[in-house]
This record gives sequence, structure tokens and C-alpha cells, in this order.
Amino acid sequence: MYNAKEVEKKWQEIWDKENYYEPSNDFSKEKKYILSMFPYPSGKIHMGHVRNYAIGDALARRFRTMGYNVLHPLGFDSFGMPAENAAIKYGLHPKKWTYENIDYMKKELYSLGFSFSKTRLLATSDEIYTKFEQEIFAKMYEAGLIYTKKANVNWCDNDKTVLANEQVEDGKCWRCGHEVEQKSMNGYYVRITKYAEELLKDLKYLEDKWPNQVLTMQENWIGKSDGLEFELDVSSSNKDLDGLKFSVFTTRADTIFGLSYFALAPEHEITKKVLETNLISENDKDKIKAMQNMSAKNRAQSEKEGVFLGIYAIHPITKEKLPVWVANFVLADYGSGAVMAVPAHDERDFEFAKKYNLNIKYVINGENKKDNEPFTEYGILFDSAEFSGLDSASARIAIAKEFENRKIGKSIINYKLRDWGISRQRYWGAPIPIVKCDTCGSVVENNLPVALPEDVVIDGEGNPLEKHPTFKQCKCPKCGKDAIRESDTMDTFFQSSWYFARFASNPSNWNTKAIDDEAKYWMNVDQYIGGIEHAILHLLYARFFQKALRDLGYLNVDEPFERLLTQGMVLKDGAKMSKSKGNTVDPDDIIKNYGADTARLFILFAAPPQKELEWNDSAVEGAYRFLNRLYDKALGINVVDFSNINHANLSKDDKLARLKVYEALKKADDVFNKTYAFNTLIAACMEGLNALNNASSDEVLSEGFAIILSILDPIIPHLASELSEKLFNRTNIKTYELKEEVFVSDTIKLGISINGKNRAEIEVDANANQDEIIKIAKDKAAKWLEDKIIVKEIYIPNKLVNIVIK
Ligand SMILES: [Zn+2]
Ligand SMILES: [Zn+2]
Repeated sequence: MYNAKEVEKKWQEIWDKENYYEPSNDFSKEKKYILSMFPYPSGKIHMGHVRNYAIGDALARRFRTMGYNVLHPLGFDSFGMPAENAAIKYGLHPKKWTYENIDYMKKELYSLGFSFSKTRLLATSDEIYTKFEQEIFAKMYEAGLIYTKKANVNWCDNDKTVLANEQVEDGKCWRCGHEVEQKSMNGYYVRITKYAEELLKDLKYLEDKWPNQVLTMQENWIGKSDGLEFELDVSSSNKDLDGLKFSVFTTRADTIFGLSYFALAPEHEITKKVLETNLISENDKDKIKAMQNMSAKNRAQSEKEGVFLGIYAIHPITKEKLPVWVANFVLADYGSGAVMAVPAHDERDFEFAKKYNLNIKYVINGENKKDNEPFTEYGILFDSAEFSGLDSASARIAIAKEFENRKIGKSIINYKLRDWGISRQRYWGAPIPIVKCDTCGSVVENNLPVALPEDVVIDGEGNPLEKHPTFKQCKCPKCGKDAIRESDTMDTFFQSSWYFARFASNPSNWNTKAIDDEAKYWMNVDQYIGGIEHAILHLLYARFFQKALRDLGYLNVDEPFERLLTQGMVLKDGAKMSKSKGNTVDPDDIIKNYGADTARLFILFAAPPQKELEWNDSAVEGAYRFLNRLYDKALGINVVDFSNINHANLSKDDKLARLKVYEALKKADDVFNKTYAFNTLIAACMEGLNALNNASSDEVLSEGFAIILSILDPIIPHLASELSEKLFNRTNIKTYELKEEVFVSDTIKLGISINGKNRAEIEVDANANQDEIIKIAKDKAAKWLEDKIIVKEIYIPNKLVNIVIK
């Protein structure tokens, strides 16, 4: 039995002393930047963290052994709501709560032996990080990449704050249960849409390096479509409305002759104008107002509803008068907030038309077209004037051209991607560095950082910065007159969008620069590791930042993460581990009872990293027993020089043991460079060790343990270092060449065929002669040869023995 606690403490101290964790300043060396997504400092690490960092650490350690200059840093994503909620619940200051948690989690992570750089450690709530984040904000603002606009947001009037879509549950505030309303508010927006095309195009570059699923999700989220945009004239008995115009966008111009009504968003300007008239009843007006107060998400989930607005619009070609409705499924910020409805060829329009008894007019024919169902495929046009007979694809182009010729519409490209609203009415975040001056307007603060005041009252009602007695009062940086400081803070996703570039900068420059030139050596991240839940938000924002920071002169590559591994969740009893379900396992307990190496071995052995991992107590014990066996066996061998093994002279068992060890070595290259299937690598090492049980040559045993300890070193670094020191003075931790002689087999397999039919197989000594081989073959095939006359015996070397009988 080895003493895990003692061994692990010893090696963690040695690594610390040897600066093992730190990257070198030798930039002539080839680099590897290995990064696991940084944690939120919620208090304690959980098994999902252990998995995430065990994968990253195994890669970092392996690449160091291979001679790469390795950057493997750790940080904390430390702004955000839980710190404020803890303040409300326990009366703790968010800063105190956050930094105490960071200290505790750092200890836990180091106790697992993760080789994180200790000089490049950061928390995004550090004042120096805020300072340079505000500098980046200012540069983006000046470049037009950040702007303000008034838009609809989720508002809780009880808590006096904006809520994210995720914080609205069934239309109610997640904290106080108050009905959430839609409120039009000013906020800061990041112009991510400016990069929509590049973000889409560069997904091609990431193919085979990122999981397909993530690439597809990003592609859909960006949602590029090309189509036709055109304007409509309103026709109404009300003279304020008659002649007004609105525009619509469609990707199916080929269905234009099937148009039967229009649907507007509840917030559309024309809807608002109708509300001021007596064209519709008070009851209908109330229905529309209720729609306006629902969040987009809730509207999308609820039943399709609409109200006829009492006005018409003129079909741009046929000049028919078509009814204009308001519908809850039309979103104000997609397209122009108005859609042309073609119920015959669109499911949603069809459902709506059926419900309200609107006209359904088919204009596309195709094989799968059925009566009384929408036909949404491409087909051949009919009842479409001169376009009848064209197929949908050519009709889309021809009709768009006709609109352009007549100057009543144009072909445009549309994206689903929206600009990113980053204003939060929260205390524990990075203040938006803008000052509002009556004379100069919005001015960027030039004395950074705008730091958070610590003397705040956090009671869960409203923004503590807004209520702070002095925070908002300031002088205008431009004219020096009294001005008002912006009291909103930034979305925490802003911080996580550039921390990897900060890590890549030399910490000796952290006080003077946001990102320094060293980042050009380290960026991009060679391997990024994290959960699939970040597929859109974080991974899209970070890609945008990389491109924006490139264009602002901070960075020089297009993509932040060269390769991405999304690790699966850790489950227990079939469900994700969570405190509320009471099915968690505390990593501290595993470390205390078995040691860090057991935790690391179990988590990498139990499943391929990309797949879900089911917790299994007996498998944890199994991992522990394996380490103990390894320890005992290793210490039982007689270490000798193994540099000149004469393979041909070895016994069969020694040869087999060598083969198994070298098979594991071969697998290691594949696993660390490509597949990350650590589970199969560990299994191969176990097979190697089993085969070594039967070996008797001291040379073979010495070589075997030297290689296997070197392969396992990134996975169980403490025990592997301990044994490597005891046996080989650590000289064995290096890369090994494969040896061909080991893979050459002693025996060959031959088929036996009788009258051309395959009957059996034999394994013979590779040096056996033809007569011996034929004799073995005949013995094996005896039951088919009984009472027969052998006409011919043919041996085809290395393939088969053919016997002809009659
Ligand atoms: Zn509330
Ligand atoms: Zn001013």
C-alpha cells in the first residue's frame, strides 16, 4: 500500500520548487497553449471541474515531456449574480465572498496536482482586469463596435432590474415571482452583427477541429439567409394610416402569388398607430397590449394568436387588397417586424390561417403535395403570371430581378444573429466606463479603471450603483463640467471573451497593457476544453472578440481556439450531479480517502472524455487498487540497463510483454495527439502490466515499467513521478521511439482449404518448413480427410494450405 497523501504532497512541493508549472521565455521553442474553461468561484469544485482539468492537465504534461513550451493557466470568472445573491442571503460583501471562494478552490485544484501556471493566475473581478477591460470597451466604443440603443428588455418592476431571458420563468421573475413586463430601455450593444459573415465563413476553418455539433449550432444561430425585401402600401379608411409603408423580407419569393395576408409584430410602428385609432375594438386593443408585454421567448412558446388590424396592404404585383394582422409570433427585432404570409406553403402561416379562416392559395406543385396541408418544399410554380412553369429556385431569382427592375424591392442577405446587449443593472460587474454630460453627450472615461465602490447596500432591489450616494457624480472628461456616470455594469460574458488573450500576455506587463506582444507567440489556444453548454454564447462571443481585437491591433490570428473538446457531463444515478438532487460526490472526499491520482485515473478511465460519465463507487475503488498493484509490482523489479535488448533471444512471454508495452506506447501517440480516448490508453497500459506479470527478463521488465510510467505520468503524475524516481531517477519520463522488431510476430496464421473451401485455421512457427506445415494442416483437417484420397497438397506461403481430395 502506498501512502497517497505523502507522495502527492511531496511531488506538488517539488514541482513548485522546480517551476514545473511555468512556461519558458524561450520563444524559439514550439509552443502548446492548453486551456480548460475557467470556473465560476461558487465555493467548491465539483466532479465536472475535476474532469475538465484532468483532461487539460494530461495534455499539458504530455506536451511538456515532448519538449514543447507549454502554457497552461488558471483563472476565475468571478463577476456575476451569485455573489450578489449570497450578499442578500448571508449579508456577506460580494467581494469577500468571491475571493474567499477563489482561495478555497485554488487549494482544492492544486491538491489534485493540476500543473497550472501560478504567475498567470487571474480573476476577472480583479481591479486591474477591469481597468483593461474598460480600455477594450472604450476602443470598441470609439470604433463603433459598441453603441447605445433603446430596445425591449425583460423588466421586473418589483426588483427594478432587467432580467436575462434565462431568468424569466413562465413569464415571472425567477426571484420574486412578479410578472415580468417588456420595457423599452436604453442599453449598450456590441455590434457582433458586423462580423456575422466572417464568423460564419471561418466555421469552415474549424471543421474537423471542433465538434460538428458546435459548428452546426453556431451556423444556425448566425442564421444567414438570402431573400427579397420589398415595401407595401397600407390602404385604410383612416387617413392617418392610408398610404403608410412597411417592408417585409422573404426567403421564398417564389411563393409571392400565394400571399394571402400580412402579419405584424405587436411592437410594429403601424400596430402602435392602429392602437390610437378606433379601427379596432377595445377588447382587441387589450389583446395586443398583452402580447406586447410578453417576452419573445414566452410568445414563441405560446399558442399562435392574432388580431385583424382593420387595414389592408396592396400586393406589389397583383394589386389585390390583403388584410393586415398583428400576430404574437412575429418578432420586432427579426427582419423588419413584419412578414408576408403564404399559408399554402408555410406551416406556421397555415396554422394561423386555419385558426382565423384566412384565404389559402396554392401556387407551387410538387410530388409530395397533399390537399389541406401546407406544401413547404420547392416545386413548380402555377397561377403565378409569367413565372408559372418555373421551378422554385429559378423563380426566386427571376421574381427578385423583376422587383429590382421595377424598383419595388431588392435582394438582400439577412442574419438571425442580433447585436449583443451587455448592460446589466447589477453591482458585481465591470462598470461601463461612460459619462453623460449635458454639453458633450456620452463621453468615454479617460481615467481608468472606473472601480466599484465597496460601500454599497445590496438588498436585491434595484442597482446598488444607481442608489450609491456619490458613484454617479463626476466631472465630464471633455469639458470638466458636472456629469453623470453610467451606473450599469457589463454582462459577465464580456470578461470571458478575452481572458485567454490576457493569459497569453507576460504577467510582468499586466499592469501596463491589456494584451502584450507575447500574446502573438502564444495565441491561439491550441486545445480548448469545456462543456457543450457554451456552444453558442461564450464560444461565439470569444470568436467575435478575437476578430475585433485583431482589427483593433491587439492580436494577429483570426480564431481564438484552434481545437475544441467538449467534455460530457458527470452523472450519478443517471442524472447530472447537483446539490438540489442530492446526488453529488465531493472531490475533497475522494482525495482524502484515495488520493488525487485515483480521482484523476478514475475520471479519465470511466468514459471517453466527450461522452457522459456515470459515477461508480466501485470503479473508484478499482482505480485505487490498480495504483496499489502498480506500486507493489514496480518496486519488486530488478532495474537493469535495457538499451540493448536482443529481442530474438527472448522467451515467448517476454516477447509478448514487450509487444503489449509497445502497443500501449503506439496508442499514446494517437490518444494524446488526436482522439483523447484516455480510457483506451489506460486499458492498454493495464494490459501491458498484466503481460509484464509473466515476463522474466529484467531488461524487459525494466523497459516495460520505464515506458508505462512515462505514458501514465500525465494521468497519475504523483505516483508515476514517485516510482520513476525510485526506479530510474526520473530519466524514463521522455518520449520513446517505436521498435519494429517488437511488432514482428513469431508465428503466422494460415488458412486450410479443402477443394477450395475454407475449413480451418492454424498458427505455426514463422520458421517452420513446408513439410512441417503441411503435416500440421493435415492433422488439423483430419475429420474432412477421413476415407478420402489426397490428390494434391499445395502450400501458398504466409497464406494457406490447399488440399485437393476425392
Ligand atoms: Zn422580481
Ligand atoms: Zn462635457
